[in-house]
Amino acid sequence: MTTLNDAFFQEVLDSMFDGVYFVDPRRRITYWNQGAERISGFSEAEVMGRSCADNILRHVDEEGHQLCLEGCPLAATMSDGQPREAEVYMHHKDGHRVPVVVRAAPIRDEAEQIIGAVEVFVPGRTAERAQQIIEDLRRQALHDPLTQIGNRRFGETNLESLEGDTAPAQSGILFVDIDHFKHVNDTYGHEAGDEVLKMVANTLLNGLRAGDSVCRWGGEEFVVMLPGCDGEDLARVAERLRMLVAKSWIDHEGNRLRVTISLGGALTTEENAIERVLEQADRRLYVSKETGRNRVTLTD
Ligand code: GH3
Ligand code: MG
Ligand code: MG
Repeated sequence: MTTLNDAFFQEVLDSMFDGVYFVDPRRRITYWNQGAERISGFSEAEVMGRSCADNILRHVDEEGHQLCLEGCPLAATMSDGQPREAEVYMHHKDGHRVPVVVRAAPIRDEAEQIIGAVEVFVPGRTAERAQQIIEDLRRQALHDPLTQIGNRRFGETNLESLEGDTAPAQSGILFVDIDHFKHVNDTYGHEAGDEVLKMVANTLLNGLRAGDSVCRWGGEEFVVMLPGCDGEDLARVAERLRMLVAKSWIDHEGNRLRVTISLGGALTTEENAIERVLEQADRRLYVSKETGRNRVTLTD
């Protein structure tokens, strides 16, 4: 398998649901199928000949390591010939992060020399679920028209289910607010601000565990609900969301716009009504703001 001049072979690859791309030894993209375009938002014309590390996909793993810079599976596969698999968050052209499972394998010539690598990527279960959630919300008119995630009414309904006899023993709540968002609007305009809001909303949605939900509470504020979680789960999810947003960006008229988020979180207890837990999370959010932003506060 050295070239793709076999039209049949190319057609098979193009019809695959999975994303498939090839790179040469310098990690320049030499082939990009339609699945890759659909999942990442980048067209073939936008990526061909460019390096996959060149601000296109920029995979980050669960801990926030930028794989393209510090541990690219394709580079490792080309150096030792071993296939690899990893779960990463890919950068979508619209800016948000998409969880994908990537598999890398070497491409060899007739003399068994490694002359490149192929990566196959599929949306992770969380990404598929996020899409399903958006469709359900739209059907029930519980979506926010701008970001397409749940609206405040959706959030309030979910919050109600965290208290009462049928509620899980303990649940987590996160209050999320974009840092210095006014600056984005003032500098780049309201439309750019809207694009950033969408990017943050989708990154939050894609960064959740099964069963968790997120709503746009208002303006540039979001509430994340985690039914049945302990302090450790809450800390892990909050930190992952913070990291994923910090490592995302949108391209706006030649500028790369990035924002960070501040988070405050609290756990439900049997004594405390849900409003009290919300107030606690909101108060901790302001501690995150006051102590420097781009951080998580979960205790007083
Ligand atoms: P802080 O770090 O303290 O949160 O600073 P901030 O600038 O984010 O805080 P502030 O609450 O002063 O500003 C929030 C801004 O969010 C003001 C408002 O214009 C903007 N905003 C609210 N809703 C939308 C929206 O739907 N689209 C856009 N583009 N901007 C919005
Ligand atoms: Mg605010
Ligand atoms: Mg703000």
